[in-house]
Amino acid sequence: MNIILFGPPGAGKGTQAERLAAKHKVKHLSTGDMLRGEVAAGTPLGLKLKSIMDSGALVSDDIMIELIATCIEQPECQKGFILDGFPRTLAQAAALEDMLQERGRGIDHVIVLKVDENALVARVLKRAAESGEARGDDNEETVTKRLKIYHDQTAPVLPFYEHRSVLRIVDGMQSIDEVTESIAEVLG
Ligand code: AMP
Repeated sequence: MNIILFGPPGAGKGTQAERLAAKHKVKHLSTGDMLRGEVAAGTPLGLKLKSIMDSGALVSDDIMIELIATCIEQPECQKGFILDGFPRTLAQAAALEDMLQERGRGIDHVIVLKVDENALVARVLKRAAESGEARGDDNEETVTKRLKIYHDQTAPVLPFYEHRSVLRIVDGMQSIDEVTESIAEVLG
């Protein structure tokens, strides 16, 4: 089962992706986590990524597409995967479709976490305060910028999947457990 979890920053994609991956025994692929891992490793690429991510901008499509192509090849992804944070642009969605088609695979469900955006900045700031590790991009100014980028570059990916009849909308304003339950329901 190959699933994309979709939604603006702070919608709860990471938490739900983790739960879904554990339940269905498939691989959780969080591009944000992978990039933060590269930053933490302190490589020259990591340094470049850090300044992009801290500004709230998107990392280039070339880098992201290569990253995901490598992941999808791995044996632990053969049973399926939950994508969290990818695709974020139409170019990424098109590249993903091509790489899956070449392997006779496809996306089964795109789960959209629908949230009240007025609540998002507060949610992300709460996450920053509660988690021990500070993320360089969890501050009000950057979250506002990331939301704008979501609207300008990521939301236009939705019609791409709407045409393929794989979109499932879930109310992301419910409690964490209720969202998990709603996702289970839409997956049948
Ligand atoms: P996230 O943890 O998914 O919110 O991602 C944190 C940051 O990593 C984003 O604000 C981007 O700078 C970068 N990033 C993660 N995934 C992608 C992607 N698919 N395309 C471009 N940039 C990404």
